[in-house]
Amino acid sequence: MRRRTFLGSGVAALSLSSFPLRRLYAGEDLPAVSRTGRGISLPASALADLRAQLRGGLLLASDAGYDAARRIWNGAFDRKPALIASCAGAADVMRTVEFARAHDLLVAVRGGGHSISGQSVCEGGLMISLEGMRGIRIDPEARVARVEPGVLLGELDREAQSFGLVTPAGTVSHTGVAGLTLGGGFGRLARKFGLACDNLLAADLVAADGRLVQASASENPDLFWALRGGGGNFGVVTSFEFRLHPSPPVLLGGPAIFPLAQARDALRAYADFAGNAPDDVYADAALTRLPDGQPVLVIDTCYAGSIEAGEKALASIRKFGKPIVDAIAPTPYVKLQQSADVQLARGRRYYLKAGFLRTIDPSLVDALVEEFAGLPPAVMVIFADAGGAISRVAPTATAFWHRPARWNVVVATAWDNPADTEANMAAGRRAYAIVEPHVKGFYVNDMNLGEQSQAQVDGNYGGNLARLAKVKSQYDPSNLFHLNANVQPARA
Ligand SMILES: Cc1cc2nc3c(=O)[nH]c(=O)nc-3n(C[C@H](O)[C@H](O)[C@H](O)COP(=O)(O)OP(=O)(O)OC[C@H]3O[C@@H](n4cnc5c(N)ncnc54)[C@H](O)[C@@H]3O)c2cc1C
Repeated sequence: MRRRTFLGSGVAALSLSSFPLRRLYAGEDLPAVSRTGRGISLPASALADLRAQLRGGLLLASDAGYDAARRIWNGAFDRKPALIASCAGAADVMRTVEFARAHDLLVAVRGGGHSISGQSVCEGGLMISLEGMRGIRIDPEARVARVEPGVLLGELDREAQSFGLVTPAGTVSHTGVAGLTLGGGFGRLARKFGLACDNLLAADLVAADGRLVQASASENPDLFWALRGGGGNFGVVTSFEFRLHPSPPVLLGGPAIFPLAQARDALRAYADFAGNAPDDVYADAALTRLPDGQPVLVIDTCYAGSIEAGEKALASIRKFGKPIVDAIAPTPYVKLQQSADVQLARGRRYYLKAGFLRTIDPSLVDALVEEFAGLPPAVMVIFADAGGAISRVAPTATAFWHRPARWNVVVATAWDNPADTEANMAAGRRAYAIVEPHVKGFYVNDMNLGEQSQAQVDGNYGGNLARLAKVKSQYDPSNLFHLNANVQPARA
């Protein structure tokens, strides 16, 4: 009887040799930060209970694996959560959310860990890490992919392409499917097939009260609407179901690179070309530098149809100037998706500012090209292509409001030495100041959210804000999930 009681406590599942267990046995409570930023203390017994309930694991600062688990893509954020719940499935997420709510803890949710503004890791709170939830199931007959929230784009692309299928996602293969989809999801095939969130068929979500709910066109349709552009505001998504489309494994794509001396004419020609291109054409433009420091304009392409049709559709890009590199060629789609992986490697320090453009005004081209050579070498300015199928969805049909946006212009800087932080951020701001007068609204996934006031975030949801606030009040009335482009719950 005594033995049964001991096993039933769940503590038996723990390794006796682990230091945190000894600490918990020793009855040490854990200092932490509450949802509202107060200092609180988590009782050792509650932590031991949570640890025993998780199929994944609970990591405290002294545990092996804690440091790796708290790191995210943007090395500028060196935050230390009090605890990390390393979830293995929806049940772990439910237990962890119940724990967070019971103790009124500050909560960060990590999917693929690419949060530009560092919001998937928090100082002193609870990090709900979904990194270990990496399952992907492709149903080639139904053309549906079921995807767990720790999956990265490259993993999904690879699985789907094995069946000659694809769902549109982002442009860098180590980005997470979860955060990208919930905020929108622009990528090489989005002009043809829509945003990642437009291809979402259903999702499972753990709401703030710990219950698991389903969202689709027929189940909780308001939640389903809100998840497509409303970010991580409503709970933790534990499963995504995406529509898949047939797409050949090899597409015409890759970069054409022009020297800065030709960038003014080439960027003006690009604006004309991309602004009038058919949906099969994806072309973004980036003012950046080659590894030897040479400033250049890169036009990066992908044609979502036959190679022959692509050759015709992309031919005029070569006439934007005299390219110093012409690497537009038949390329496996999964390789195109990896082409920026190294340039945007994990762990470096990054600072980004971004906004949506409807046109690329010649005056913007002139000002940017003139300034670019004088900016520190770390600065990049990217015009990411949008429009096409994305803009044929009504702004109120999903929570993603910025349907008429034609480009997402991103100013990014990257560096390694912490001593260079101020200089790089200042350079990023200087470059963005040229762009800012032309932008209308911003992409919640690309923005440095710490720099936006609540009024600016509210305004960015446009005519969808009131409906989002209502859904928020149903699924997260106490705003437990607020480390995001936050929607405040509607008052009753
Ligand atoms: C190198 C790089 C390239 C990018 N390229 C593109 C691109 O081509 N197209 C594009 O649209 N975007 C792009 N982005 C932006 C990208 O969409 C966001 O960074 C997105 O948040 C990444 O999702 P994640 O799951 O990796 O991030 P995480 O850091 O894990 O999460 C970011 C936020 O999403 C929410 N979240 C994550 N998972 C869940 C979940 N399961 N349930 C509820 N909320 C959750 C949380 O609020 C979290 O703070 C890029 C970002 C980077 C760093």
